[in-house]
Amino acid sequence: SAGRIIVVGGGFGGAACARALKRTDAKLQVTLIEPNQLFTACPFSNEVIAGLRDIEVQHFGYDRLAAEDITVVAQAATRIEPQQRSVTTADGVTLGYDRLVLSPGIDFHAEALPGYDDAASEKMPHAWKAGAQTLLLRKQLEAMAEGGTVAIAIPANPSRCPPAPYERASLIAHYLKTKKPRSKVLVLDAKDNFSQQRLFEQAWKELYGDMIERISLSQGGRVTSVDPATRTIITEFGNYTPDVANVIPPQRAGRIAEIAGAADHTGWCPIDPVTFESKLVPNIHVIGDACLGGGIPKSAAAASAQAKACASAIIGLLAGRTPEAPRLTGVCYNTVAPGYGFSLAGNYQSRGDIFAEVEGGTTSPVDAPRELRAREAAEAERWFQTITADTFG
Ligand code: FAD
Repeated sequence: SAGRIIVVGGGFGGAACARALKRTDAKLQVTLIEPNQLFTACPFSNEVIAGLRDIEVQHFGYDRLAAEDITVVAQAATRIEPQQRSVTTADGVTLGYDRLVLSPGIDFHAEALPGYDDAASEKMPHAWKAGAQTLLLRKQLEAMAEGGTVAIAIPANPSRCPPAPYERASLIAHYLKTKKPRSKVLVLDAKDNFSQQRLFEQAWKELYGDMIERISLSQGGRVTSVDPATRTIITEFGNYTPDVANVIPPQRAGRIAEIAGAADHTGWCPIDPVTFESKLVPNIHVIGDACLGGGIPKSAAAASAQAKACASAIIGLLAGRTPEAPRLTGVCYNTVAPGYGFSLAGNYQSRGDIFAEVEGGTTSPVDAPRELRAREAAEAERWFQTITADTFG
């Protein structure tokens, strides 16, 4: 039969795709390859860093997927042979597929930020993959003396969740205001403009006064290298030695995408926006942060929407049908303090080779009453409950 599907990566894209495949066609043989027994969700991990949430509520397992007859393999995929249509895992087992879905998330570009490697991330945590890194950054904040400076280095786009660094700056400011009010947050930014900027800047002024200082790209904010031995961040115009250095490096698709031959010179994976099939390797589909999604920001909401559209395209392709262009929707919440949130909702459709944003998107108003901010903060929490139940629960 032509119904063997392997999904690599059990995050927001991969787990949702495996589930959608099996729920739509129970006869498919669906295998999910993911090395971690417990997935740690990034959305709301900024709250963990700020001491507002326990990491345990970010953890999700794969029991429900296994109970739905998805074969869960707790290994990392290490080799992919597109000609043989096979995936090999770290324990040396090789599995064959008819269609392969890759949703490996991100990895970091070692060459793009000189000095920043795995050892450096133990001193200057990125916390851009949730788990041990999240807790390390929290610990460093807790250990910092009153009056200290926390620097956050933000890369250019495309990167995972473009507004999340500014949410992080906000929640760290909340923590400092509460616990060490003479401290500062220094944002070193490789961008001039960012998503929902007016809303963030208004909230910063209102809630945190001048606690957050941002140096934009034009002001020399782009980080060009780091020296972990002295905890120094080097930018185009100066050197900084903060007390806590949260360095979010430039990113690319998870390494296994490159091993499969699905990543191009940008480090990301070009895809057909109708089927999510790779433009570089046949029978391999790429979803989530790893794919070049055009106008779609890299988010859990987008990964989940792409996962379902990809599952339906694969089922169509296996049945010999021509899949229809999907319309994807996604909403992204930002929380800048407990009970203070805002959002951005977008609609996306394939246009030629990429996804483009189409009409119908909405953003929270600037100058809204606090009740609306409180309502949106509560909606953000419900969004998290819903998407994680939909993916893992
Ligand atoms: P992931 O969810 O990262 O899953 C990738 C999985 O692949 C991982 O489990 C990994 O272990 C596995 N994997 C990697 N390589 C292999 C391999 N070789 N073999 C097997 N498995 C492998 N998004 C929102 O929508 N809303 C938010 O509020 C939000 N907040 C965020 C806050 C922060 C601080 C951050 C960092 C991100 C946030 N995001 C948010 C973004 C969101 O987390 C990602 O966009 C989303 O997780 C992408 O899903 P994915 O499936 O592509 O990757």
